[in-house]
Amino acid sequence: MTTFVQIVVNLPAVSGIFDYSVPESLFGKVGIGHLVIAPFGKQTVQGVIFRFIDQPSVPEVREIIELVDDLPVMTQAQISLAEALAEATFSSLASIVSLFLPAGLSQEADTLFAIREQNLEHQKPGIESSSIASRIVQLIQERGPLRGRQLDSHFSKVDWRKVATSLVRKGMLASRSVLPPARVRSKYIKTAQLAVPPEILEAEIDHLGKTESTQTRRKKALQFLVQVKDAINVSWVYAESGSNLADLQELEERGLIRLFETEIFRDPLERTGTQVETFLRKDEIELTAEQTSARGEIVQAISVYESHEPFLLQGVTGSGKTEIYLRATEEVIRRGKQVIILVPEIALTPQTVHRFLSRFPGQVGLVHSKLSEGERYDTWRRARLGLLKVIIGARSALFSPLPNIGLIVADECHDSSYYQADPPFYHAVNAAQIYARLLGAVCILGSATPTVAQRYQAENVAGERGAKRLELPHRIFESGLPPVQVVDMRDELKAGQRGIFSRFLLKELESTLARGEQAILFLNRRGTATYIFCRDCGHVLRCPNCETPLTLHIEEKERLLCHHCGYERGKPSACPSCGGRHIREYGLGSERVEAEIKSILPQARTLRWDWETTREKHSHEMILTHFAAHRADVLIGTQMLAKGLDLPLVTLVGIVLADVGLYLPDPFAGERVFQVLTQVAGRAGRSERGGKVVLQTFDPGNQVIRSAALHDVNGFYRYELEQRRRLGYPPFSRLVRLEFRHQNAATARAEAQKLAGRLGGLLVSGPSTSLIGPVPSFFAKIGGYYRWQIILRGPTPVSVLREEALVRQLVDWRVEVDPISLL
Ligand code: ADP
Ligand code: ZN
Repeated sequence: MTTFVQIVVNLPAVSGIFDYSVPESLFGKVGIGHLVIAPFGKQTVQGVIFRFIDQPSVPEVREIIELVDDLPVMTQAQISLAEALAEATFSSLASIVSLFLPAGLSQEADTLFAIREQNLEHQKPGIESSSIASRIVQLIQERGPLRGRQLDSHFSKVDWRKVATSLVRKGMLASRSVLPPARVRSKYIKTAQLAVPPEILEAEIDHLGKTESTQTRRKKALQFLVQVKDAINVSWVYAESGSNLADLQELEERGLIRLFETEIFRDPLERTGTQVETFLRKDEIELTAEQTSARGEIVQAISVYESHEPFLLQGVTGSGKTEIYLRATEEVIRRGKQVIILVPEIALTPQTVHRFLSRFPGQVGLVHSKLSEGERYDTWRRARLGLLKVIIGARSALFSPLPNIGLIVADECHDSSYYQADPPFYHAVNAAQIYARLLGAVCILGSATPTVAQRYQAENVAGERGAKRLELPHRIFESGLPPVQVVDMRDELKAGQRGIFSRFLLKELESTLARGEQAILFLNRRGTATYIFCRDCGHVLRCPNCETPLTLHIEEKERLLCHHCGYERGKPSACPSCGGRHIREYGLGSERVEAEIKSILPQARTLRWDWETTREKHSHEMILTHFAAHRADVLIGTQMLAKGLDLPLVTLVGIVLADVGLYLPDPFAGERVFQVLTQVAGRAGRSERGGKVVLQTFDPGNQVIRSAALHDVNGFYRYELEQRRRLGYPPFSRLVRLEFRHQNAATARAEAQKLAGRLGGLLVSGPSTSLIGPVPSFFAKIGGYYRWQIILRGPTPVSVLREEALVRQLVDWRVEVDPISLL
């Protein structure tokens, strides 16, 4: 009898699932979730078995070739998640499956090109020596047969494949499909950590080796690790105990310690020696009444095995949310299950990570972008075996193959880094909720400033898609939030102050530095591009059709454009609101802020923290370390400042222009600005020195600014929700964003118009979905590509795209379901 299976092949461009038969040699060895190699067209590819089937849907089924890994690479729950996610995000199943496979293991098929000597000889003279063809031939002659991806690295922006294909046709080159060799995995040990509680060591500590000296070395090593608690570089262990790698490996064999192939994580403050963090142990913390009640609800949910609605744990920084995550984690581990903790960006949230490491020694695995492929693969394998109880990491940590997950936490659930803004597009917080539902696990979303949609889900949506809101309204150590002084920049102009800084902010800066304290200056990175406003009255020019702020474009002539509906006009010479003549665009970068500080306060030592200064590995740490060690007085930075660390010397936060980012042609702009302002404002005055925030604005009456200045989360929510209702944006509708990119502006435009026409035709029959666009995207050109977009809006706009005939036309489009930005 033949066995048939359905396989998702690892070619992101291919959507769908294909039938294969299992050869006898693999009977009993392959099962659901296994990674296998199979023929696909003329190629050989990898694929994951999704299910067994009785009857193939095609007459000619091909056989699986071999098994890549003896253990499954995906659990049944992960397979269900992949299917649900592909459906929800309108992505190909293969592209979603690739999220689950560790880079070292998953491989994509490639083509190997080789020379056909005998044919080359008499044809070569026909090739022009400068041509692409001759370069290809020469490369292969020099280096031997080459894979497509190797050739890619030699030809940028040239379609060498077309040329190579024609060389193959002429018989000069041979080509065949291959899977590239598995990439090398680094194998080195860097850190060690205790794997058991000190009490358990007691029993073992005097039986660690045969000879006296071995015993002493190993005992000293353990005693040292008891002291440091966290994972520590092994060279410190050697230095302290005289032990060596063999000793530590033996201790690991015995299950007493864990060795990591990674320099797990370093707290930038640790290296400065200014502040050594000691975390309260569990028995030193008595939960507050609010925490107790939140914990009670969560533990109750953990103890019943069924699907629950997710919890939205809302509380300001310092209200004890992380302590709740720790308690819930403990509860789940006690029941023999595992936990996933998602954080926005691990490099910026070291304290959370450290608290988990010290509360659950040896049981925590980290997933972050700075891991090498080998390290990542190892964590993945340990997770798969259930050796790790807790995985902490950014959005991709959600796809760790833990066998029996009981809890998924998304900390700072409003953070936009949870959204993967490249294909396959997905939102890790939404995916976490889907996954928890499939698993019957508990899901906790935590934030001081949940998104409007998240809060709406908790307050207004009942049943399946709802959530339960738990509140922690008070800080554990009631220091109050710092006062925010709003400065109206229009008054500064009237007083002749035309620079970046108000008189008040300058005075505060000077006195802060004079006291030997530090200041942070915050600039909103987004939207420094160009909105247009009147500097006399603050009036922002908006589209008459849709209230979207107009943006300035200076290509041939100056024009103002609505990126929403395409409305266009020239730049007015006078303000339509007050008649003032100072109509300007706004744009400002951190270099300019730094230059101005240097010219006004030459003695101030400045440091910039933005995307440009943090391209290098570890640069976040270096900048923070530098600043924390007080080697600079003023830190000028963008969004990153909103996260990061408690810096006790910082007593002044200056928000250079709070309005930036507010007038972007994007329904989510207000919410993003509110979140970032609220968080940046919370940076000041974390210590007993106190602190204040100076917020500069041209639009002090704006509700977003007013709410942020009062730390008024509820007020902002009510206001913003009303705006969304009025304008028909989420959560009162759903959006799909379709984007087309092309190097040629006219092609991009034509393609967008073609699809819009097509969609328009489809919408005639279903009036519940509306079409917005096509228009150029706000960031109209990225990396040499022109961007055009179309927005669909309605109760279920994605259903329009499921039309059979559209599939081919959408192949080259980027399709985002529930996008978090329309820029
Ligand atoms: P959040 O995650 O909301 O920022 P944390 O859980 O980090 O809050 O709590 C802030 C600080 O207060 C931490 O140092 C934590 O150890 C401490 N903490 C939390 N809960 C309590 C408590 N009930 N009693 C004493 N300290 C607490
Ligand atoms: Zn408009």
